[in-house]
Amino acid sequence: KKQEKIDQLNHTTYKPNTDMETPLFNINPNLKKLGVSATLQINEVSNELISNGKKIYKFGLGESPFPVPDIVVEELKANAHQKSYLPVSGLFDLQDSITKYLFRSRKMEFSPKQILIGPGSKELLFILQQSYNTDLLLPSPSWVSYAPQAHIGNQRVFWLKTEASNKWKLSPEVLDAHCKGNQGRPQLLILNYPNNPHGYTYSGEELKALAAIAAEHQLLVLSDEIYGELNHAGDHETIASYYPQGTIISDGLSKWCGAGGWRLGFLAFPEGLSWLKKAMATFASETYTSVSAPIQYAAIQAFKGGAEIDNYLFQARKILKSLGGYITEKLRGLGCNIENPDGGFYLFPDFSGFSEQLNQIGISTSDDLCERILQETGVAMLPGSAFGRPREEYTMRLSYVNFNGGDALKAAEQIPLEAPIDTAFLQSYCSNCIEGINRLSDWLKNNTVLYK
Ligand code: PMP
Ligand code: GLU
Repeated sequence: KKQEKIDQLNHTTYKPNTDMETPLFNINPNLKKLGVSATLQINEVSNELISNGKKIYKFGLGESPFPVPDIVVEELKANAHQKSYLPVSGLFDLQDSITKYLFRSRKMEFSPKQILIGPGSKELLFILQQSYNTDLLLPSPSWVSYAPQAHIGNQRVFWLKTEASNKWKLSPEVLDAHCKGNQGRPQLLILNYPNNPHGYTYSGEELKALAAIAAEHQLLVLSDEIYGELNHAGDHETIASYYPQGTIISDGLSKWCGAGGWRLGFLAFPEGLSWLKKAMATFASETYTSVSAPIQYAAIQAFKGGAEIDNYLFQARKILKSLGGYITEKLRGLGCNIENPDGGFYLFPDFSGFSEQLNQIGISTSDDLCERILQETGVAMLPGSAFGRPREEYTMRLSYVNFNGGDALKAAEQIPLEAPIDTAFLQSYCSNCIEGINRLSDWLKNNTVLYK
């Protein structure tokens, strides 16, 4: 009961569906507790403010700033005529192309029948949680949608403790202690790295240590590697290398290929979990049928890779690394304890050091903090509470994607490969991000120094 209470407090209730309270609307009670997902809601709020003429720095939604690579777009055009329903688990040639991609990027061997294609990895994670009765284990913080998906399906959620000082990473000791105290029910651990919301990843050694605990307790691990290709050093590793029998890898086109709106994700299952893939395919067959045909044909090209995509990823990582480093340094300068991100495009600063001053100006939760900053500076971010952190902790997620990725890529190509992206580049091509972080910085200085 107590745990359930904590879950309810912690999961995404950025703006709950209060208009569904009346019993006349016979809404599934699990949905009443939720609102539109925080990431999508902040995007809509930001766009509305922009259409009302306000200057908004869109650090809310986490969407790739880069365009879909040209060769992939060309492939989509060439396949616009594809009109037939495709197999529920996905087009064979696409499954095949994904197995080769997994071998190139992770040294993992799969056969095409181990791959399940879906309309975004988010939907696949949802049907996984609907197809298998488990408790869900989430390091806190974790991405906004995992817990609400569990709540919709009445699964229990356990938030596992992490520390900012350990880069919010799950430790093997915490995982082990949880599993020892909760035996007898299947447990699904979702591990996401490079991580949304904090940008850090696990080293090979850390993954190995977690894998050993997962194997000991026979956990099912969903390894959400959607930002794997955006590891800034280009050296992403998977926990599946250390726990192949119990790990499902999740990835897709949304982040590294700039194609969030194309809605294509996949899961790669170990041989021994084919029964689970089968159950999920049944679910899929009774709901979305199969992913849009032209998108699947175009995705074959994306996963095939090649020089153009390698170059695109090289430049994208370089830009994200530099911009992430620049903003982190600014945040550190403000007195915020934060280290450079390892991948993706998120930062998760903690302003709890300013609690006293923030309290004095009527801000007592991360939701208040985000709201006030949005109203007073136009900088849109998401509160730590949306990611499972306590409301009274002053954490926020900042997505540093508010720039024209197409222009930035073209400009980066003019710079010698080994030369870094400097501040002058960021000021020219990521000016909204720079301006936004300056506004945030000024706001914090004014509101905290004033009350010191
Ligand atoms: N996992 C994480 C950590 C994410 O940030 C997202 C956001 N798009 C997803 C999964 C889902 O991605 P998609 O459905 O676009 O594949
Ligand atoms: N994953 C993205 C984010 O965390 C947005 C897309 C989504 O939530 O579906 O902001």
